[in-house]
Amino acid sequence: MRMFWRKASAVAMIALACVTCAVAQSSGKPVKLEVDLREAPRRIYHAKMEFAVKPGPFALVYPKWIPGEHAPNGPIVDVTGVKFLANGREVQWRRNTVDMYAFECTVPAGAETLEATLDYLLPAEAGAAGVPSSSAQLAVLPWNLVVLYPRDSKSDDVKFSAKLRVPAGWKFATALPVTKQSSEGIEFETVSLTTLVDSPVLTGAHMNTYDLSPGKNPAHRLNTAADSAAMAEAPPEQITILRQLVAETGALFGARHYRHYDFLLALTDHLQTNGLEHHESSDNRVPERTMHDADLTEAAMDLLPHEFFHSWNGKFRRPEGLATPNYQEPMRDELLWIYEGLTQYYGVILAGRSGGWKPEELHEYIAVTFARVDARPGRTWRDLEDTAISSQLLYSAREAGSSWRRPVDYYEESELIWLDADTLIREKTGGKRSLDDFCRAFYGGEGSEPRLVPYTLDDVVTALNAIATNDWKKFFEVRIHSHGPGAQLAGLERSGWKIVFNATMNEHEKSEESAGHLVDTEFSLGFSAHYPGSENSDEVADVVFGSPAAKGGLAPGMKLVAVNGRKWNPDILREAILAAKSSKEPIELLVENEDFYQTVKVDWHEGERYPHLERIVGKADLLGEIAKAKAPAVR
Ligand SMILES: [Zn+2]
Repeated sequence: MRMFWRKASAVAMIALACVTCAVAQSSGKPVKLEVDLREAPRRIYHAKMEFAVKPGPFALVYPKWIPGEHAPNGPIVDVTGVKFLANGREVQWRRNTVDMYAFECTVPAGAETLEATLDYLLPAEAGAAGVPSSSAQLAVLPWNLVVLYPRDSKSDDVKFSAKLRVPAGWKFATALPVTKQSSEGIEFETVSLTTLVDSPVLTGAHMNTYDLSPGKNPAHRLNTAADSAAMAEAPPEQITILRQLVAETGALFGARHYRHYDFLLALTDHLQTNGLEHHESSDNRVPERTMHDADLTEAAMDLLPHEFFHSWNGKFRRPEGLATPNYQEPMRDELLWIYEGLTQYYGVILAGRSGGWKPEELHEYIAVTFARVDARPGRTWRDLEDTAISSQLLYSAREAGSSWRRPVDYYEESELIWLDADTLIREKTGGKRSLDDFCRAFYGGEGSEPRLVPYTLDDVVTALNAIATNDWKKFFEVRIHSHGPGAQLAGLERSGWKIVFNATMNEHEKSEESAGHLVDTEFSLGFSAHYPGSENSDEVADVVFGSPAAKGGLAPGMKLVAVNGRKWNPDILREAILAAKSSKEPIELLVENEDFYQTVKVDWHEGERYPHLERIVGKADLLGEIAKAKAPAVR
């Protein structure tokens, strides 16, 4: 998964005990599944399933732990219209009183099949009920939203034969093999529940498909669906970058573990920006103008490389705590600093190697990312490993308070760990070997169809030692348990670069600001606020714990009204920060706190402050070497 400027959302998590009773009674016959998306624009998905059963106690469960989401967040609250039918008569079900995801019933004598129907109500906005998956013009179907399966069965063992209807005139794309297509619907190859849930469908009124590896096997495709025909068109330069990305992963791993790969890209302002990895595809959701707006393109450049890298790290190979037999068994997230962290590192590096980010763009991304991690006050109480262990809480945590709580830092902070490892290997081997050699050995091997090979931390340590001898266990332990002050920037320095601050805005922050409509003074006053007239207009989104703004009394949720007596906007705020450099007076923020107005005085006289990378004199530019294309240029 890859998360971006998230909207604040609070999700209630329900702690559940695991219960086992009433062993599932299903035969080996595939479950017949029919899904109707024709009402997707009004946010309802309909599903009907037919299970082969025997008379007696029977229980069906709704997927709870969703792969790639690392949390027990299957959106059960919006599963409605649940009805069971056998022998042509309704069968009473009762929800398990402890496990909200389990529906229990007794199959009547003589019945060989049980029909189950449900409607899934899609939320219009991200929140406690989950995330939206459809707009008026497109829809994404992660199959876990609409399936039930026999309790206690393994998702590899349960087979599904799925049939799908989409709105008239809409096209579709999925990694799932199609066997038949007619006006009555689309029929898919019978697959395991694992493959079904791993193969979402993107459908929409405006769709295009682009070949990313012409004439080559396996095939790679970019499938776009947008809220308008114009925005579904991928500019040729974007296709060149993605073709180079495909070539770069070939050079990196030397093997692929899929039959074909489909990027599914939903371009709409009505879904939350996100990416979710799958073995043979990825479910990517970005703002509608992403392929046609320089700031949006820049801000999302590492998304597709990140999700693609997951096909190797996350799907083919996965930490054993995340390789669960079904979607009810709890996942253990402690190695997400490898699953997500290494992926985040290579997502960024591959954005550079494929030409998506030019060197100076990569530098600006790294500068702001590492400066943020370095300044994170929450590191003093919570170590990096704890952000991974508690990711099931942190994914749904609101933005406000994130500097002290810590967000899902095992993405960004782990980039430092892996840059550290990469540069250390290069140093120890005199530039002969690198982290790429580890990737090739650990994730490459023989090319294959999708399969899962779990790993432990010891496996990673052993594989790294085969590339360059080092006490890798201790190397990782120090880094995942460090409290600072400050992050461990040794890897950045070994790569030939250091972070410096000046008053020139960081270009990556500028893109983020433009894309998120959020002014950010995190390295000076220490707060961010939503642009006037934007969603959550004028609201203080977050205040850095211990910052000058926090000391002055500013808090998230307050509304900014005026700066130094003048109605605020981002320019007025920046002018006030500049003016305070030559003044002893504090900057005065007039804020609305619920029904009350108050003036917050911020004592800051050092002007605007933004991070950038600067070369360390006398050190080789290893970062440049790492981010340089490794495959021949495609055209
Ligand atoms: Zn990810």
